[in-house]
Amino acid sequence: MVLQQLGGSITRALQQMSNATIIDEKVLNECLNEITRALLQSDVQFKLVRDMQNNIKKIVNLDHLAAGHNKRNIIHKAIFNELCKILDPGKPAFAPKKGKPSVVMFVGLQGSGKTTTCTKYAFYHQKKGWKPALVCADTFRAGAFDQLKQNATKAKIPFYGSYMESDPVKIAVEGVERFKKENCDLIIVDTSGRHKQEAALFEEMRQVSEAMKPDLVIFVMDSSIGQAAFDQAQAFKQSVAVGAVIITKMDGHAKGGGALSAVAATKSPVIFIGTGEHMDEFEIFDVKPFVSRLLGMGDWSGFMDKIHEVVPMDQQPELLQKLSEGNFTMRIMYEQYQNILKMGPIGQVFSRLPGFSAELMPKGCEKESQAKIKRYMYMMDSMTNEELDSTNPKLMNESRIMRIARGSGRQVRDVMEMLEEYKQLAKKIWSQLKGLKIPKKGEMSA
Ligand code: GDP
Repeated sequence: MVLQQLGGSITRALQQMSNATIIDEKVLNECLNEITRALLQSDVQFKLVRDMQNNIKKIVNLDHLAAGHNKRNIIHKAIFNELCKILDPGKPAFAPKKGKPSVVMFVGLQGSGKTTTCTKYAFYHQKKGWKPALVCADTFRAGAFDQLKQNATKAKIPFYGSYMESDPVKIAVEGVERFKKENCDLIIVDTSGRHKQEAALFEEMRQVSEAMKPDLVIFVMDSSIGQAAFDQAQAFKQSVAVGAVIITKMDGHAKGGGALSAVAATKSPVIFIGTGEHMDEFEIFDVKPFVSRLLGMGDWSGFMDKIHEVVPMDQQPELLQKLSEGNFTMRIMYEQYQNILKMGPIGQVFSRLPGFSAELMPKGCEKESQAKIKRYMYMMDSMTNEELDSTNPKLMNESRIMRIARGSGRQVRDVMEMLEEYKQLAKKIWSQLKGLKIPKKGEMSA
């Protein structure tokens, strides 16, 4: 079950509970059973799910809740908190500091996406002004050095490795020394993987770690490994001091529940997720927005991140203010389309904006989506200022629609389609953002 489906199942279970006239033990049990089933199908470890269910029952003691308590809210909050608890190990991962050299060692099975993730991690920090460097201490897999070299060259990140040297410890130590001398502040070391967990892999990892003394060990895990996630993560944790987890391939048909299991097994937080093969398909992982999305509550902070990326800084508070007041006009839609076209990759941005949901922008159809945006923008070019700035749905009468179609050389039905999409979008954005406290300019993180 992919995460979207998991989110859908949980939301449905909560919805069904909300539809019940009276919330009693039976209704609560049905809801929890439904959620349990969804989590198990998403490969969350059985023990975690069972504990969660018991905890929620303890918190939501229906007999002791006085009349007048909003039981639905209490149950919803308890589920939210319990899911957050599983994903939050209680202590943050070591955070490297810009300008101060840190060594970060990547471990994981072969094929987990380790090498790709090393470069994504480096690229992410480089964009934020860091001076990262990559070291290939994977001497086991033929082609590993070439792959890292290719990725590093593409991203213009310095790299170190050797075709001849077979001792990973030597390469790791040499690479780290060299980049420390070059004042790199984030030295990322890619280590060998194996097809399966085996003693030789763990021994090598231990040796590299001992020699290099990394500030942080990141365990990379493929999200599609299913129920094996817990044991695999635990095996790595027992060999090296894993301090953070990155889950890859969250874009595919992955059973994302592995993320919950990996956190529980390593007692380390998930810090990023991989959402595609490309260098920038990499997202910070935050527990609360992630769980919010699972529970169908919308991802406010993910939206904020994307707002920061796609909307120029000085326009952000104003835009958010307008959206939260329900003033989503065609002009705002036009301006956001402009920003998004500048930005790319389009699919990612859209998937995070509340309202621009998967059905409007299906993944894998980015080209079509882009063409559609351009088509809409041409039509909006034929609209008057009054039409662009209006929030009155009745303004767009037949003669206006015909004029826009003629002006842009499109069919009336194309204009109707655009207007319908605008209406749906406005409704969704409004339902997610209404009444939201908008951060003031100074309160927005860069
Ligand atoms: P390694 O053996 O662990 O170093 O794995 P690689 O970095 O070589 O990745 C294995 C495969 O997974 C490659 O084809 C990558 O392009 C792909 N991959 C890595 N991360 C992601 C991701 O987040 N999403 C998708 N779809 N593919 C990924």
